[in-house]
Amino acid sequence: MKSAMYVDTHAHLSQLEDREGVIKRAKDAGVEAIIAMGTNLASSVATLEWAEKYPGYALPAIGIHPTEFLDDDVPVTLRYIQDNISRVVAVGEIGLDYWDKAARKDEGVRERQRDTYIRQLQIAREHDLPASVHGRGSWQDALDLAVAHGPERIVFHWYSGPLDVLDSLLDRGYVISATPAAEYSKDHRAALEHAPLESILVETDCPVYMRDRKRGSEPMDVTITAKALAKLKDTTPEEVALATTRKARGIFKIK
Ligand SMILES: [Zn+2]
Repeated sequence: MKSAMYVDTHAHLSQLEDREGVIKRAKDAGVEAIIAMGTNLASSVATLEWAEKYPGYALPAIGIHPTEFLDDDVPVTLRYIQDNISRVVAVGEIGLDYWDKAARKDEGVRERQRDTYIRQLQIAREHDLPASVHGRGSWQDALDLAVAHGPERIVFHWYSGPLDVLDSLLDRGYVISATPAAEYSKDHRAALEHAPLESILVETDCPVYMRDRKRGSEPMDVTITAKALAKLKDTTPEEVALATTRKARGIFKIK
């Protein structure tokens, strides 16, 4: 039997060093493709560089993250996203984050998050591309705006919100993704237990620090996510690999 193959559907390769090592370790771990996220202009540029270096393996997404747009010239970055849209497999990482320090105390910041998010949802819809959405502390709004302005295929990455919002996003045919926090995060685990395996992708959100492992993550750690998810679903990592990779190939049109 062929060993399990995974897609890391949300990785910040632009924040990792040791490119060769990262890619080699990912391949050795059974990662068949990595969806690499941009979060602002510089990281979107760097993400496209990774994709050029590892074509067909590091598959790029570009976008403006809700906590990163304050330092960016948003119109310039939006223009960059549009100009390079034919080179990407998705728009991301985009979304809302009402827990962000600046957003907590300032409705104006939340308003700007929504404007930037809507604009990028529209770009994704115009080009029939999937979107990778961040919705910390703002899941309901992230969903409502996605329904109003977004593309058909949306991944609510690292979903840890209310279960009723989860039900409505699943009803819409959207999916969620699991991170290594599936090992320990109460809210994330509750969502992963609630959603059917067919609506879940796996990812690392690397280089996010893995609390229980006491180190930063990289794409090979998608196997940690898969193991934790398998436990929650009372199945094997191989079954998780099969189901999540099939779904990821469909969403990101991976050949
Ligand atoms: Zn991310």
